[in-house]
Amino acid sequence: MPTVSTKRCCGRNIWNAFRLPAPAVNLLQLTNTNAMPKTTHFGFEIVNEGEKTRRVGRVFEAVATRYDLMNDLMSGGLHRLWKRFAVELSGVLPGQQVLDVAGGTADLSRLFAKRVGSNGKVVLSDINAAMLAVGRDRLFDAGYAALAVQCDAEKLPFPANHFDCASVAFGLRNMTHKEQALTEMARVLRPGGRLLVLEFSHVWKPLQPLYNAYSFKVLPLIGKIVAQDAASYRYLAESIRMHPDQETLKHMIENAGCVSVEYFNLSAGIVALHRGYKP
Ligand code: SAM
Repeated sequence: MPTVSTKRCCGRNIWNAFRLPAPAVNLLQLTNTNAMPKTTHFGFEIVNEGEKTRRVGRVFEAVATRYDLMNDLMSGGLHRLWKRFAVELSGVLPGQQVLDVAGGTADLSRLFAKRVGSNGKVVLSDINAAMLAVGRDRLFDAGYAALAVQCDAEKLPFPANHFDCASVAFGLRNMTHKEQALTEMARVLRPGGRLLVLEFSHVWKPLQPLYNAYSFKVLPLIGKIVAQDAASYRYLAESIRMHPDQETLKHMIENAGCVSVEYFNLSAGIVALHRGYKP
């Protein structure tokens, strides 16, 4: 199997990224031919698709046990508010069924479990066994008997037209085929069901220099000090820059089959919540 050499598309000097709201990507580099394996982004690097999946897996294996602490440190606790907002806007009612895709350490699953109550059902799913194990334990410790399923969001092992709500928080960015994952989420929703995507997005322009400095200088430093892992947090900053902006993601969700798609910018667009409905 030929391998694709990894290549920095933005140069090694991270300060270059501060001058550009998003790194300039030569689309030709992403063009696939029969002779070459398909390529995608891992942060600012262009790698073959299998390599991205493996490297994302390694990132989350490495951070699983410190993930919650790091989330609090990096966001100053704001991620808790963003997640509460998402669950508020889900419109989920007691007795309903919710799928938390790429649910990791189960922050959203726990909030949903509280809402659906004992007659409802929450399924926590994630591709990564280490993240899923932390999430499952946290759910049990909080007194919720939610189902934990290890699976790829791009091939969900659930029937069509089943869930009242399918959510993905801070997971879509890491997926190799985002459109496929969104299509799968829409497939498993019942008609009228809600698809929610909570994800880092494109920040209000005047704040970009400050945000870039924070992401590329402070985040890897916190990662290095707290988790002895600067590289995973550099990937976090880079993957945020490579993620589609609010309008692009809205169209992707529409293309996946949802209607009435709208989005809400949180904290000046650092994060956006997208919500759509299965017709
Ligand atoms: N949803 C949690 C939260 O908001 O705290 C965890 C988010 S964490 C940043 C991203 C998660 O996406 C990781 O647990 C990772 O294993 C998962 N993930 C990445 N690619 C995936 C895929 N193809 N299918 C399912 N989960 C995936």
